[in-house]
Amino acid sequence: MSNCIFCKIVAKQIPSSVVYEDEEFLAFKDINPAAPVHFLIIPKQHVETLAQTTPEHAGMLGRMLALTPKLAQEQGCGLTQDIDGNVSGGYKTLINTGPDGGQEVYHLHLHVIGGPQPWRGQR
Ligand code: 5GP
Ligand code: ZN
Repeated sequence: MSNCIFCKIVAKQIPSSVVYEDEEFLAFKDINPAAPVHFLIIPKQHVETLAQTTPEHAGMLGRMLALTPKLAQEQGCGLTQDIDGNVSGGYKTLINTGPDGGQEVYHLHLHVIGGPQPWRGQR
């Protein structure tokens, strides 16, 4: 997709703050973070929306979600447990789909939003 901003980020034609990359996915920090930690995981292959995915995409979607815990931990918003068993940390995972879903960039992306509260988490 020649006009897609996220394809241009994948192609390194537009700079981004990359937090993870493999053959299938790129993860980079959101340019307008809603919280102390806010990054996006995208498939390198251009898929416009979640609505365009089919059962054939199930593997890709699963692998994208499965990347989240490791990257969230690395970015400082994973779950931690103190000696008394109290859990802290955490994050939201979000895929906006279409106009009513608030999607602005039409290349599938998974938001990971976290870090110490308070932050504007209601997107
Ligand atoms: P959407 O509303 O489509 O779910 O989210 C798109 C996200 O992409 C927004 O949070 C926005 O800040 C982010 N974004 C848009 N353009 C760029 C860009 O050029 N670079 C980066 N790093 N993030 C972007
Ligand atoms: Zn794209």
